[in-house]
Amino acid sequence: MILSQNTFAQDTSIYDKNQVFDPLFMTHDGTEFRSANGAPGPKYWQNSVNYNIHATLDEKDTLINGNVTINYTNNSPDELKYLWLQLDQNLFNPDSRGAATTLVTGDRFDVKGYKKGGYHIQSATVIYKGKTYKIDPVITDTRMQLRLPFTVKPNGDKIDVKVQYSFSIPEYGADRMGRLYTKNGVVYQLAQWYPRMCVYDAVKGWNTLPYMGLGEFYCDYGDFDYYVTVPADMIVAGSGDLQNAEQVLTRTEIKRLAEASKSDSTVFIVKENEIGDKSTRPAEKGMLTWHFKMHNSRDVSWTASKAFIWDAARINFPSGRKGISMAVYPIESKGYDAYGRATQYLKQSIEFYSKTYFEYPWNSAVAVAGVALGMEYPGIIFCSYRIGKANLWHDITHEIGHNWFPMIVGSNERRYMWMDEGMNTFINGYASNAFHHGEYGDTTNRSILGMARTMMRAKDPLMTPPESMSLRDYGQYYSKTAVGLNILRNSVIGPDRFDYAFKTYIDRWAFKHPQPNDFFRTMNDAAGEDLNWFWKEWFYETWKLDQSVKSVKYVDDNAANGALITIENLQQMALPVTLQITEENGNRNELKLPVEVWQRDSEWTFKYNSTSPITSVVLDPHDELPDINRKNNTWKSK
Ligand SMILES: [Zn+2]
Repeated sequence: MILSQNTFAQDTSIYDKNQVFDPLFMTHDGTEFRSANGAPGPKYWQNSVNYNIHATLDEKDTLINGNVTINYTNNSPDELKYLWLQLDQNLFNPDSRGAATTLVTGDRFDVKGYKKGGYHIQSATVIYKGKTYKIDPVITDTRMQLRLPFTVKPNGDKIDVKVQYSFSIPEYGADRMGRLYTKNGVVYQLAQWYPRMCVYDAVKGWNTLPYMGLGEFYCDYGDFDYYVTVPADMIVAGSGDLQNAEQVLTRTEIKRLAEASKSDSTVFIVKENEIGDKSTRPAEKGMLTWHFKMHNSRDVSWTASKAFIWDAARINFPSGRKGISMAVYPIESKGYDAYGRATQYLKQSIEFYSKTYFEYPWNSAVAVAGVALGMEYPGIIFCSYRIGKANLWHDITHEIGHNWFPMIVGSNERRYMWMDEGMNTFINGYASNAFHHGEYGDTTNRSILGMARTMMRAKDPLMTPPESMSLRDYGQYYSKTAVGLNILRNSVIGPDRFDYAFKTYIDRWAFKHPQPNDFFRTMNDAAGEDLNWFWKEWFYETWKLDQSVKSVKYVDDNAANGALITIENLQQMALPVTLQITEENGNRNELKLPVEVWQRDSEWTFKYNSTSPITSVVLDPHDELPDINRKNNTWKSK
């Protein structure tokens, strides 16, 4: 029978310890910009950018007409001869690179054959030291270069950029924005709706990777002051704080909002039977301008519709500050099993993440039911109007979780998708555990066996940029990262050390731009453990894990003298070992061995103080590790 166990096992190990414990991995020194301990260095800088935006929704022609004034501050040590802006709407131009690289069968981030997409840039001007210059923009796909007839000086020099633009609102905006036709009117979800600055940083200079669909965004921080003008019969919800409630809301709505801001249970602002009712709007005809402000954000988005039910409740922050959680949704999404609980899902997610990781810095948040399946923006999330119950909870807690990664911890999503999707999926698991006595279950570790199956076929490591990730593998940015962080937390360094280091990372990099190494170095430094072996195998490689029990022998052939147990690492990935050992006399013990046993070789023998013959040895008894062959995890005596 012992032999028959071995027939399942791979005979020879492919493990090479020097690949895992690689002395050449991450060996460069820290710099004055990014310290060796993973913190921003003494000379860390980033540029800042404030936006003033005016936009009008032209419903008849399905257009946005806008103008944006950007106050840009160059805090870099470099002179800037030119500026780069992001023109995300150009993805929806049928000639875009994103369209060219979409599979014939289409995909989720497709332009879906929209023929009128893309920005029309009417004018671009810059104002520098009191003088205005008209610039001929150089537009390449989703980027726009403004070549300046002067240089912006280093260390705090300022320049204003003004752009007049319009674009046709796609119906399906790569699952990130668009239009939804409902019984009582169109739900417009507006995002990537104004030209915005590319990030100039100390790592790449100007970050000009094009927007092609899957790879998301990278933006600098600043203050937003924006005005959206829409038909008077519409309700608008947006990122940040509404500035002119008296002009755009009725007395009743203002009263109900004040009530909601003192209530932990949900209060209706616009009820189902009030949709389309003239009494809900302060003006019957023409247009109304809604004015919002948001402080220290990387983006703003908004929604408008005459089909909205609107409800809200108070958010309680750890500091004692209060905020407001809201949901707007069409009648198709109403009810307790659907968006009737959206405000509570949002409120309780924000309260959990604020308490556990970092206090939400803004005052309001809103969940919008519309065409996008799930998309995040600061203070506003777009979720599918079609879902409810557990699916809606998971969608809302995920999209608002992105307000921590990458809206607060401002990583570069276009290059490192695992840094936002994966860290967010990781914290979502704990939010789900905490929600309403675990109503929607424990999701921190549910995917481990599925993860092993996925890892068996994965071709691309997590460090692969989104546009070169195989489309069937991009789910790994979410699941493999989250599973990896859970293994690190629960099976490698323990919750206390992990949580302290993870929170240190958030505190250090809130409203800044961390790189992968800043995360790896902070975790190493704050947890006090050289985890480079883990970073390499989990993020840079597609290695697999296969631990196995090779043999059990007794000292002098007598179980009372103790047992010599030999385990083997058959694949290239190394992780710590947990064993459950059961003896004939009923003794059962659990034993943990550190990953360092694999620093020796692919095989490790240790002494176990048995008192009677061992009946079974089980590796990874709680299914914590993505072991690809669990058949060789168990040794049995007969
Ligand atoms: Zn996400």
